[in-house]
Amino acid sequence: MQVWKFGGTSVGKPERMHSIRNLITEDSGRKIVVLSALSGTTNSLISIGESLKSNNDAEANEKIDSLYAHYQSFIKELYKTEEGYTKGKTIIDNEFNFIRSLVNIKPFTLKQEKEIVAEGELLSTQMFEAYLQEEGVSSALLPALDFMLIDADNEPVLSFTEEKLTAMLSQLEDKQIFITQGFICRNPRGEVDNLKRGGSDYTASLVGGAIRAEEIQIWTDIDGMHNNDPRIVKRTFPVRELTFEEAAELAYFGAKILHPSTITPAKMRGVPVRLKNTMEPNAYGTLIADKTTDSEIKAIAAKDGITAIYIHSTRMLNAYGFMRKVFEVFENFKTPVDMITTSEVSIAVTIDNAENLDKITAVLGQFADLEEHDRNQSIICIVGNFMADKAGIALKVMEAMRDIPIRMIAYGASEHNISLLVDTKHKNEALNALNEGLFKFD
Ligand code: ADP
Ligand code: ASP
Ligand code: MG
Repeated sequence: MQVWKFGGTSVGKPERMHSIRNLITEDSGRKIVVLSALSGTTNSLISIGESLKSNNDAEANEKIDSLYAHYQSFIKELYKTEEGYTKGKTIIDNEFNFIRSLVNIKPFTLKQEKEIVAEGELLSTQMFEAYLQEEGVSSALLPALDFMLIDADNEPVLSFTEEKLTAMLSQLEDKQIFITQGFICRNPRGEVDNLKRGGSDYTASLVGGAIRAEEIQIWTDIDGMHNNDPRIVKRTFPVRELTFEEAAELAYFGAKILHPSTITPAKMRGVPVRLKNTMEPNAYGTLIADKTTDSEIKAIAAKDGITAIYIHSTRMLNAYGFMRKVFEVFENFKTPVDMITTSEVSIAVTIDNAENLDKITAVLGQFADLEEHDRNQSIICIVGNFMADKAGIALKVMEAMRDIPIRMIAYGASEHNISLLVDTKHKNEALNALNEGLFKFD
């Protein structure tokens, strides 16, 4: 069995839904199809939530009306029969009635906010499933809220998904195609929650890992993982093969094509991940698996919103135990550290969640000297095969970065990552310079 995930743009227009119907039925294998919300919907739902949070009900109602109008015209084109259209209309009316009912709940809390954002995937999957029914495709809807669960630390519980999904699938052996919602889940309080923005990729990987799928396919609007961010750099190209580790680094360090955690469950269960383009299904895309190719530098990604913290030991040289004390502070505030560089008496670390920054620096300040931290930094992550005994790679990177100030450099922790920290105002220039310096173009 395979798991195929289609993102927002792949379901964002009625004709796109028609083409993915063809894609999933042309391939005869049994599959679970994970869908995102129609493109733009999650943003609209978040914005409705913001109006409600600020008690602006009139503004929220206007936004709801305009989103509803979009769905009304969408279903007119999606279905071909009167019966199909009626089903579609019932689906959108039900979901929008629910959204409207939230306007009256005061105060509007995080619980309601999460219920609103979940509506995007609830709408797209039911609409698509009704379309498959209209087309006579043997399919069934699997409610993600019955098998996707996060724990108190917001970590998905894979064993729960495995147990629930296996049981559900065993009841539906006659079906070929299963549709489910990406992104949404329940939390330990039984409330509706989600896997954060872009989380449908993560759902696909968790589902694929849980059922030990043959392959996970992520269908999107580009022909695979590119060697650099195509939104910023002009001359980019798709990378045909990546190892799990390489893809995980790129996703974690900002390659938007994948949610940062996507690769973890697939890697854990050894399920290959293929990235494919819905608009160009014949393009090879990217295969992410165990095996590696020997090209030296594979791809570059960048992650913004980074804060760098500079910590000096007050005991000067030979201060053993200092590192442990420093990292304990980050652990106590559940704040992951991304990059680290050290000298004998100083440590520089970066974090991307600065929610507890003041508390962290207050505690660190009790036993260390702190320099003013830098906000608005970007980590640039260069991924490839950098064998320790091979000379010249760092030189190429430094040469490309000749004119750009670098705050931190991390090299050598793994053989497939060099990370640089730069001020975000230099990010675009750095990505372009590295592209020209590290890849060969004809
Ligand atoms: P979906 O809605 O299908 O989940 P996303 O918008 O989340 O799609 O991800 C696809 C987009 O990711 C591409 O259109 C591209 O602009 C962006 N992107 C950023 N970095 C990369 C990269 N290294 N390779 C490919 N796409 C990338
Ligand atoms: N719809 C959600 C979002 O826009 C999840 C996803 O598309 O992956 O973030
Ligand atoms: Mg996405």
